[in-house]
Amino acid sequence: MFKKILIANRGEIACRVIKTARSLGIATVAVHSEADANARHVRMADEAVLIGPAAARQSYLVGERIIEAARATGAQAIHPGYGFLSENEAFAEACARAGLVFIGPPASAIRAMGLKSAAKALMEEAGVPLTPGYHGANQDADFLAGQADVIGYPVLIKASAGGGGKGMRRVDAPADFRAALESCKREARNAFGDDDVLLEKYILEPRHIEIQVFGDTHGNCVYLFERDCSVQRRHQKVIEEAPAPGMTPERRASMGRAAVEAARAVGYVGAGTVEFIATQEGGFYFMEMNTRLQVEHPVTEMITGLDLVEWQLRVASGEPLPLRQEQLDINGHAMEARIYAEDPDRGFLPSTGRLVHLSPPTESDHVRVDTGVEQGDEITPYYDPMIAKLIVWGTDRHQALARMRQALAQYRVVGVSSNVDFLARLVAVPSFANARLDTGLIEREHDRLFPPPGEVPTDVWLLATLGELLREARRAEQQAAQSPDPDSPWRAVDGWRLNGRSGRQLVLRLGEQAQTVDIQFEAGAHRLSVGPVQVLARGTLGLDSELLAQLGERRLRAAVVASGERRHVFFAGRSWPLVLVDTLHVGGAGDDHDGGMRAPMPGKVIALSVAPGATVEKGDPLLVLEAMKMEHTISAPRKGVVKGFHFAPGDQVSDGAELVDFEGGA
Ligand code: ADP
Ligand code: ADP
Ligand code: MG
Repeated sequence: MFKKILIANRGEIACRVIKTARSLGIATVAVHSEADANARHVRMADEAVLIGPAAARQSYLVGERIIEAARATGAQAIHPGYGFLSENEAFAEACARAGLVFIGPPASAIRAMGLKSAAKALMEEAGVPLTPGYHGANQDADFLAGQADVIGYPVLIKASAGGGGKGMRRVDAPADFRAALESCKREARNAFGDDDVLLEKYILEPRHIEIQVFGDTHGNCVYLFERDCSVQRRHQKVIEEAPAPGMTPERRASMGRAAVEAARAVGYVGAGTVEFIATQEGGFYFMEMNTRLQVEHPVTEMITGLDLVEWQLRVASGEPLPLRQEQLDINGHAMEARIYAEDPDRGFLPSTGRLVHLSPPTESDHVRVDTGVEQGDEITPYYDPMIAKLIVWGTDRHQALARMRQALAQYRVVGVSSNVDFLARLVAVPSFANARLDTGLIEREHDRLFPPPGEVPTDVWLLATLGELLREARRAEQQAAQSPDPDSPWRAVDGWRLNGRSGRQLVLRLGEQAQTVDIQFEAGAHRLSVGPVQVLARGTLGLDSELLAQLGERRLRAAVVASGERRHVFFAGRSWPLVLVDTLHVGGAGDDHDGGMRAPMPGKVIALSVAPGATVEKGDPLLVLEAMKMEHTISAPRKGVVKGFHFAPGDQVSDGAELVDFEGGA
């Protein structure tokens, strides 16, 4: 076995490889870009070597620098992880030339599977079932259009060099074929530097089922069962699970045998995955082979009880596979969800920034979190915005799903947008819960997955307010502790008494919903009013932002995380990024003229707090104005009726502009 290995990757996979190496007593060397100087994989490794600037092309993709780093540190082998150089045959060869072990298949196997068209031709010879289509060399547009007619629509045009869901076009009718072919070729040329395409019959309502295979240098090859990766977004996996729901032992055995055939046909060594497209009826066709460890390999580990990285290391150091096919077994059910820094409401746009607050669910025998970041770390624009992989195990799918729901409900991410709430909705949709899986699930369930915002529950306003009051109290205590003056006003722990008031208000907002919460201090508690609801509230706020609240007779567990003006409330498996509005009651108490109805400064209308026609009490918020990067609430100067607004949310208003058509009561 190796004494020291280098990991040519970053993020969660680098951390995950280091963990296994360490458990086997193997020393680890991390490589990193300038942007990753203090990244988690660097902090975890025994040694770390800077290999270049942030851009992957100048660091993680520069094979020579990585090989140099391995030589300089005396590493014997290089683990490439996934992505980056993991499927680069030239890099695998360069490692060998430098006397280093590439922890992966032989360069020849990478080459054989590197182009989808060549791989399909090879699989055809090996007798592996293929999706009907054309994967030959002729790239003439007329010829390909003719082939598409033969295959029958819909067809899928695929970049032969493609990967990561890029370079694919579904075409439904002959009239659209040429335009799709052109745009697919353009994308392929830009992304992969190779515009060869192949054509496939587009399988309707397909499932993505893949087989994990493992070969060694002694001629053994086994399959470690399947993973169902049908839940996808734009051909990219979102949730993976093992075993595949509805799989029969016969079908598993025949897919397993086909996958082992595929691996043997290219002299495969190490961990690999053979991806199949499967029909609802049970047919399956070879799609491609990924000649590396797969992102979703943990679900296989959870159901087999094996460590696939350990197997990789053993095989790469020349040991035979630890187990034979008949010694392998499936135990229970596992699911993985990919936690990304992205905004589902804005087309899943990646989100960058500092992870102000990051609190994953507690790990246990059946909950695992693979991550490359910790609270305080940065999601940078340079790399994949994955925050973590959340993996759960249960004795059956039902239990695994319940644990996934619970774990997602506990996951808290503040500082970047994340897909956690989206995933929570996804695992709750009936078709997913009932395992009616196919690659169109997310699109089909769009309405359930993107519900209209809905009203913020009263509990959420109350919890945010209580959290804020407890935070103020803690800050006041800290300041009192630091102040040498025993008579300092900061010693008054209930902060608002500083203002000589016994009651106050807090204004919170989410989108267009604004809410004023009235607060009265009462013997060690606060009486909070939200509209007609009044409760006596008390509680504790942990340093981890955990809020234990007593609202009247009810005890609630939540978290309230402050980040700038935001107060993120995590409650009942959801989150609400409320904004704490700085209240500016223009035209103060007792002021009876309509001065408050004018914009106090130039700004933008953010939200209307009441509907036209509403009767309001004095002090009720009417609208929220954003000016000078702050938010200001314009409140009713007295009881009256809001007849209308002169502006809509988003409108720019000038200083002194009249905002509301208000009719004061008697
Ligand atoms: P990549 O290299 O980008 O992973 P794949 O060939 O593995 O490309 O395909 C990615 C995804 O595209 C699959 O998981 C599946 O959802 C979809 N797909 C691929 N081939 C077909 C097909 N013939 N019919 C329908 N969907 C397909
Ligand atoms: P898998 O097929 O293993 O489930 P995907 O196809 O979703 O994984 O993503 C793997 C591919 O995505 C890699 O081959 C790589 O192109 C890209 N990728 C994913 N994560 C990273 C990363 N952290 N760094 C670089 N590339 C990545
Ligand atoms: Mg694929």
